[in-house]
Amino acid sequence: MSSKKIATAKIALIFGISGQDGAYLAQLLLNHGYLVHGTSRDKEITSFANLHHLNLFPSITLHSAVLTDFRSVIEVIQHVQPDEIYNLAGQSSVALSFDQPVDTINGGIVGTLNILEAIRFLKIETRFYNAASSECYGNTEAGPATEATPFQPRSPYGVGKAAAFWAVANYRAAYGLYACSGILFNHESPLRPARYVTQKIVRGALDIADNKYQKLTLGTLSIARDWGWAPDYVDAMARMLQSSSPEDLIIATGETHTLEEFVKKVFSKVNLQWENHIEINKTLQRPSDIYYSAANPGRAREVLDWSAETKFDSLVSRLIEAELERRRFAG
Ligand code: NDP
Repeated sequence: MSSKKIATAKIALIFGISGQDGAYLAQLLLNHGYLVHGTSRDKEITSFANLHHLNLFPSITLHSAVLTDFRSVIEVIQHVQPDEIYNLAGQSSVALSFDQPVDTINGGIVGTLNILEAIRFLKIETRFYNAASSECYGNTEAGPATEATPFQPRSPYGVGKAAAFWAVANYRAAYGLYACSGILFNHESPLRPARYVTQKIVRGALDIADNKYQKLTLGTLSIARDWGWAPDYVDAMARMLQSSSPEDLIIATGETHTLEEFVKKVFSKVNLQWENHIEINKTLQRPSDIYYSAANPGRAREVLDWSAETKFDSLVSRLIEAELERRRFAG
């Protein structure tokens, strides 16, 4: 029997539930009374560390599905009969996308198309959220990006996200699907893996404070980003599927800071002089990068009554506190 027939609660299906956003979104939807299903490429071998960390694992029904494999996508959607589908799966590292461009671009566009096609083919009544990205815009030196700003991506990751964004917009226009993309700017949390620069800096500063080593090597300090707090952002995703009509929206704090400001803030919060501990190695820089990324989240405020609660200073404090807690727990 499909889950729809035995349930009165709303059913959500999250592709990519093992990731940072998948775990926080699952937590939010469970708190809202949803039945939550989620996919991983192979549920038998995935650790689901984030779901365990948030104590959600027993509350979620898991499925194996590979977004680029149409059969697995259509089967899971047909089986779950979700009221809402969230596409959060895919290769999410901009840096890695330069080394794995085909998988990143292919996964981004084909994966999203497979979900759209499955919804269209099955004719199910569902609402679809797609994870787009600030990387679609490239540099925004002319002024903070709005939903009307043209895309000029500067990475294979951004190219894949831009293509998927237009596929969603096309299926909405052509077939009347309730489908929309959140154009999310960077959002961080303790669930981010160590390869991301914010975690690298937080963990590096704490290691230096513990005298494990003296220098942290970064590729640059001059790039500027709009950094937010992931739990705030999944709230915006959920709100996007409760609107009266689907609309692509920017989700961001509206504040842009340089990486140097981020470093300075982290190191000063752990009582270190950052200049003594940072070294620059230009070989770590990406072949092409976004130097300045800024956003105007005004439309999301208007449509969703949403704005980021956690801004730069408290974001940094939260990341440090969470890492200290993780270390205490690990002994
Ligand atoms: P994560 O990397 O934490 O999670 C994505 C999930 O996708 C993984 O848990 C993994 O699940 C699956 N995945 C990883 N690599 C691949 C691959 N090569 N092919 C297919 N699936 C893969 O991402 P986030 O939770 O941080 O982000 C969620 C979505 O939002 C992503 O699409 C990301 O690109 C996008 N986004 C994120 C931003 C951010 O700042 N965090 C900003 C803007 C957009 P499993 O191993 O279980 O299959």
